[in-house]
Amino acid sequence: MKTTLDKPKDKCAVFGIYDHKIDVARITYYALYGLQHRGQESSGIAVSNGKRFKMRRGMGLVRDVFKTEKHISRLGKGFIAVGHNRYSTTGSSHICNAQPFLIQKDGRQIIIAHNGNIVNTEELKEKVKEIKLNSTTDTEVIGALLLESKKATWEERFDEVLPKVEGAYSLVISTRDLLFGIRDPYGVRPLVIGEINGGWVLSSEDCVFPGIGAKFVREIEPGEAVIIDKNGPKTFYKQKIKSRAFCIFEYVYFARPDSTFHGYSVGKVREKCGEILAKEAPVDGDIVISVPDSGITAAMAYAKASGITFGEGVIKNRYIGRTFIQPDQRLRELGVKIKFGPVSANLKGKRVVVVDDSIVRGTTMRGFVKLLRDYGASAVHIRVACPPLTDPCFYGVDFPTKEELIASRFMINSRQVDVNKIHEFIGSDSLHYLSVKGLLQAAGIDGTKNKDFNVENTPYCIACMTGNYKISLKENQVKKGVKRLAILVSNAGHGTNLQAIIDATEKRKINAKIAVVVSDTHDAPGLARARKHNIETEICRQSDKLLPLLKEKYAVDYICLTGWKQIISNKLIKAFLGKILNAHPGIIADTIDGTFLNPDGTKAVWNKGKMTKRAIQNVLDEKTTFAGSSLHILTQTFDFGPVLGRCFEKVEPNDTIDSLYSRLKVKENQMYVDALIKLCKE
Ligand code: SF4
Repeated sequence: MKTTLDKPKDKCAVFGIYDHKIDVARITYYALYGLQHRGQESSGIAVSNGKRFKMRRGMGLVRDVFKTEKHISRLGKGFIAVGHNRYSTTGSSHICNAQPFLIQKDGRQIIIAHNGNIVNTEELKEKVKEIKLNSTTDTEVIGALLLESKKATWEERFDEVLPKVEGAYSLVISTRDLLFGIRDPYGVRPLVIGEINGGWVLSSEDCVFPGIGAKFVREIEPGEAVIIDKNGPKTFYKQKIKSRAFCIFEYVYFARPDSTFHGYSVGKVREKCGEILAKEAPVDGDIVISVPDSGITAAMAYAKASGITFGEGVIKNRYIGRTFIQPDQRLRELGVKIKFGPVSANLKGKRVVVVDDSIVRGTTMRGFVKLLRDYGASAVHIRVACPPLTDPCFYGVDFPTKEELIASRFMINSRQVDVNKIHEFIGSDSLHYLSVKGLLQAAGIDGTKNKDFNVENTPYCIACMTGNYKISLKENQVKKGVKRLAILVSNAGHGTNLQAIIDATEKRKINAKIAVVVSDTHDAPGLARARKHNIETEICRQSDKLLPLLKEKYAVDYICLTGWKQIISNKLIKAFLGKILNAHPGIIADTIDGTFLNPDGTKAVWNKGKMTKRAIQNVLDEKTTFAGSSLHILTQTFDFGPVLGRCFEKVEPNDTIDSLYSRLKVKENQMYVDALIKLCKE
C-alpha cells in the first residue's frame, strides 16, 4: 500500500533571484530545499555573472544533486540564479529533461525553468526552425521560440511567442543580465515575488521566504510578465486575462501549509475544509485519525469541529524503504503491517473516523481500511476533505487517467458519482466527500447563500472535480479515449518491442498510455527501459496474481506480450478475450490447418512452439527464403489466434541467427506499433 505516493503529483518548483550583494547560488539551493515537495525527480541551478552561465543539474533530490560544498561554489559568484525541482508530466524521467534549460543561438543564451503543462506542444514544436531541441519537454520549446524570434526587444519577443502558447505556465527566465517571471493568462500555477536585502526573488511558493530572509511582495498576476534588473521588478508585458483558473488543488494538497495564495493561507484553507466537512458529513465516532502523512490539518479541524478526539491510529516506519534486505515470504505476507504499526489504544474496539485530503485510485484507502480493521477498529468511517476526483489534469499535474480515478469508474451518469459503490469498493462503514461548494467556501468563495451561484464561475480551476476545463485541451483531447496498455516482458529479449511502443506512445502516435510493464524476473531489460521513461513496473511470478494486477490495479485495456507467454492462464485469456496481443516468431496462417506464403510465393515457416532464436535457427535449417514474424490475438488454442500483422525479412546467403534476427526485429517492432495505432484508435 502506498500512502502519499498515490496522490496526484505536482510538476515542478521554480525559483529565481536577482541580487548583487549575496551569494545567489546558495540562496537558490536553500530555496529549492524549501520547495522540494513540488518535485523530487531532478533538481538544478544556473547562475549568471553577467558574462556567462554556470549550471549544475542532476537526477534526484536537491541533496542528491548538490552533495558537497564544491557543487555550489563551482556555480561561481553571480548575481542572477534560476533554480528548478522537477516532477515530470511531459517528457520522460531522464537527465536531458532536468531543468533549468540553457538554450542558445548565435552567441545568445537564455536559461528557462517552468512549472505547468503546455497543451499545444506539438504545434509549437513545428514552429521551432533552427534550434535543436535536446529534451522531450514542453519547456524547451518556449525557450527556443523566444530565442529564434527576430524581434528586437524582449517585450516584442514575448508578445510574439506567449499568445501562441496554450496551457499552464509559470516561467522563470534569465538572460545574462535580466531575470523574468511570467504567468499564463489563466494563472493556473502560482508565482510570487519577494524582496531580499535590496534584491529580488521569484518563487512558486512564499513558504521559502522566511528561511532565506525574503519578504513577500506580491503575486505575479495572471498574464503578467515581470522584468527584474538593477532597478527592481517592473511589469513590462501583459496578456489579457482570459478567465482566472488558479489550481484549487494547490490548497488541497500540493502547496506547503505555510504558503499563502491570494491572501489565503494554505493551512487555514485546509482547516476550513475539515470544519466544513464535519458539518456536511457528521458521524458518530470515538476517534478521528489521518492517513500518514496526508490530510493531518483537515483531520484535526474535523475533530475539533465535531468534538471527537483527534489521535494517531498507525505509526509509519519511515525507514522501511531504505533497507536493502528483502523481506522473506512470511514478512511479505504481512504486507503493509511492516510499514504501519498500530496505536492499539486508539483503534481496538473504536469507531474510527479517517480524514484524508483526497482519494485517487481508491486502492490505498482500501488497504488502509483493511489495516485498521485488522488492528481491531470496530467501525471505519471515511471522510474526504475534497470532492471526488473524476477527471484528469492537463495543466501540469501528474494525474492518473480518467479510467484509473476511482470516482470516474463509479459514475451514475456522466457527472454524478456513485459514492456508495466507492464505499463498497473501499470496504468502509461510510464514506463522504466534501462538496465542491464546501471546498470553494473554504477557499474564500462562499456561494452557499446565493441560489444562482455557479461553481464554474470562480477564479479557480476545479476541472478535475467537474470535468469543465477552462483552457482548451487541443492535442490532449485525444487522451479522452486513451487506451491503457500492459506490456509483459521477459529476460529473453532486449526489450526492443517495448521501446518501440514507448516511443510511439510518447510521440502520441498510439492513442494509449503504458499503464505498467510486468515481468517475472528482475533481470528483464525491458524493466530498466520502462523505468527510464517513468513507467510503472511490477514483478509477478504467479498467474493467479496477474489477473487482479492487470484488471483491478491497472485497469488495462490491452495486454501486449513480448516473449512472455508462459504465465498467461486460460482464466486471464477469458477475462481479456480479444485483448491480448502476442508477437510470434514465424508466419501464422489464417486457419489452424492452413499455410501462408512468403512474398516470393514459397511456403512460409510457422515455427509453432519455437522461441525467438530457435525459430530463426529453424528458418536457416529449413533453407527457406524468408524469415517472418506475426502479431496475433492470443486464444486458448496453442500458438494460434486471429492475425493482426505479419512481417517478412529476406534470408541472405551469409546470414547468421544474429544478423537475420536483428533485421527482422526492426520490422517486428514496427508491426507491433502499427497494430496498436489501429487498435487504440477504435
Ligand atoms: Fe489543479 Fe485539478 Fe485544475 Fe489540474 S485540473 S489545475 S489539479 S484543479
